[in-house]
Amino acid sequence: MSNIMSNSIPESFKAMHKFSEAYAKRTGTFFCIDTSVTAVVIEGLAKHKDNYGAPLCPCRHYDDKKKEVANTYWNCPCVPMRERKECHCMLFLTQNNEFASNKQKISSSVLLESIKL
Ligand code: SF4
Repeated sequence: MSNIMSNSIPESFKAMHKFSEAYAKRTGTFFCIDTSVTAVVIEGLAKHKDNYGAPLCPCRHYDDKKKEVANTYWNCPCVPMRERKECHCMLFLTQNNEFASNKQKISSSVLLESIKL
């Protein structure tokens, strides 16, 4: 990837990308075989981090996002993920999940193919 392209990626996106790889490795979970799922979830987490100061789970509806951030339950990694490795966004999949790849790393260029920053 060229420097120009990587410079245009928001810091929050880079941070959530880094977090996702590190957390998958730490928990022994894997990214989805459909890389667009991984990309869209990371993008959603980054946007929430920018707008609300915390990576609130992007796959849920909230009446009041500020309140949810303060609650912390759905800040990524959420409580169901931390307690039971349940990620309903399909960002972190256990090995026995039929949609799990064998990858805990994903390149920025693959992510960028699926989203428009
Ligand atoms: Fe993160 Fe939990 Fe949402 Fe998965 S379900 S992306 S672990 S907040």
